[in-house]
Amino acid sequence: MKRSSKMRLQSLILILLTFAMLGTFMASMISSVKESKENLERSFLNENQFYAEKLANLTDDLFKNMLQTLKTSAKHMTTIYTNPDEAYAEINDVLDSTNFFNSVFYVNEKGIIVRSAPHFGLEGVEIKSVGVKEALRKKAPTISEPYVGVSKQIIILLSHPVFDEKGTYKGFIGGTIYLDAPNSIQSMLALHPQHRSGSYVYVVDSKGNIIYHPEKERISDNAIENHVVKHVTNGDEGHSEVVNTEGISMLAGFAYVGTANWGVVSQTPKEAVEEPTYVMVREVAISAILIIILVFIVSLLLLKRIANPLRKLAEFARDVADKQHHIETPTIPDRYLELNELKKTMFLMVDYYKEQIETFEAEATVDALTGLFNRRHLNNTIPSFHDYSVIMFDIDRFKLVNDQYGHLMGDEVLKFIANTVRNITRENDIAFRFGGEEFVILLPLTDVETTYQLAERLRKTIKTSKTPIGKKVTISIGIGNMPKNSIHFTELLDLTDQALYKAKNDGRNRIVRVDELN
Ligand code: GH3
Ligand code: MG
Ligand code: MG
Repeated sequence: MKRSSKMRLQSLILILLTFAMLGTFMASMISSVKESKENLERSFLNENQFYAEKLANLTDDLFKNMLQTLKTSAKHMTTIYTNPDEAYAEINDVLDSTNFFNSVFYVNEKGIIVRSAPHFGLEGVEIKSVGVKEALRKKAPTISEPYVGVSKQIIILLSHPVFDEKGTYKGFIGGTIYLDAPNSIQSMLALHPQHRSGSYVYVVDSKGNIIYHPEKERISDNAIENHVVKHVTNGDEGHSEVVNTEGISMLAGFAYVGTANWGVVSQTPKEAVEEPTYVMVREVAISAILIIILVFIVSLLLLKRIANPLRKLAEFARDVADKQHHIETPTIPDRYLELNELKKTMFLMVDYYKEQIETFEAEATVDALTGLFNRRHLNNTIPSFHDYSVIMFDIDRFKLVNDQYGHLMGDEVLKFIANTVRNITRENDIAFRFGGEEFVILLPLTDVETTYQLAERLRKTIKTSKTPIGKKVTISIGIGNMPKNSIHFTELLDLTDQALYKAKNDGRNRIVRVDELN
């Protein structure tokens, strides 16, 4: 009880404080998480675009170098194309010195392979693949679309025409890249790995067919439905959010390779943004929790300073209500204006009511249970009389009534006795409740004989009445007279009490006069 009143106030304020702090923390956390996520996404998109552009440029350069190599070689062919061995030496040199191609060959103007490196064993065979046909038709430098070559591999063919000294077309020098085997594009892309986990690059041709992909089985799949691929095959550059074939959201950047009409796409799973965000949340949360704990402790200390005097006041108020006796007024610091006012008012009220109660008690003359005058009033009244008799009586075996019928029924009997006294006494007689079940009747200007008759009537009436407990009750009576027995009021009361005591001793339910005492 003592603690709980204090705890309640403190906990309430602490809970409020906690909610306020957590609320603020959560709100700022949510907004900063959102912002950092957006920032990260933007930077991932930009990074991927930048990376795709870099790879597109490198691929462009690679193709230019490849075509340049083929061009140089085609020039050499001008004079040696008629000599197959020299032609072989030339193309073998291209294959070995550059590492650009998986194979290099010379095809004459009729589409017949003259020499190839490495050696296919197809010399003298006419090749009818799309790449070769295209090169023969164009008679110009070409980079083919991917197609399935004579070796059953998916290849792209780079070619440069060969002319003789008169400028007559004599076929072309071709370099192939096997897309599903280790190749120069792969090696080049592998030289520039993406730094973020889950990120990857893929390359598509002008029709959206996948030329390069970290998952080999995806090579030669068509991805034109992907809107990023659509953009890049149109020659666009940029970045965009996109869902990949596995249904995963990706942050993609894309760029166009002009020489080959290819597109390069670099992308990072959107999830990757979450990881650094979580790290940030965790770090911020740890420091925030430390601050919250600190604030909590300081608040608790401050609250104790505020709540302690309040609790003292509350306890004081409760003690006043409970005990109603004199209670030490607590010392309460004057630090807080409201508390000080409260304290002053409370002390004033307590003092006021204490005085009031004391006055009421001092002034009360009537017994609350029976409505007869009380003993205090008797003490104030008697000294002003000089000729009177006094009847003092006590209920016999009253303890038994309480024991058998309970205290409340005992009270009812007391009220019944008081009523009987009221009925039997005369107008000038004054009745008092002297103590628990002891009564005094003051009979002014009445002699002992008359008093005895009245007492006898009282005794008989009570003895024969039906009481609230349904049983007969008797009383024992003492009678004294002023001035006959004593001229001192306290002495007379004492003597009358002795007479009453004798009545008890003589067997109860009887009257004894002071005169009869020895
Ligand atoms: P006796 O006087 O005949 O010797 O026996 P008794 O049983 O009356 O003895 P005693 O005077 O010792 O007991 C008085 C009892 O009166 C004890 C007390 O419980 C009861 N009493 C005193 N005041 C009240 C009261 O206001 N109401 C009730 N119900 N009982 C009271
Ligand atoms: Mg008694
Ligand atoms: Mg009694």
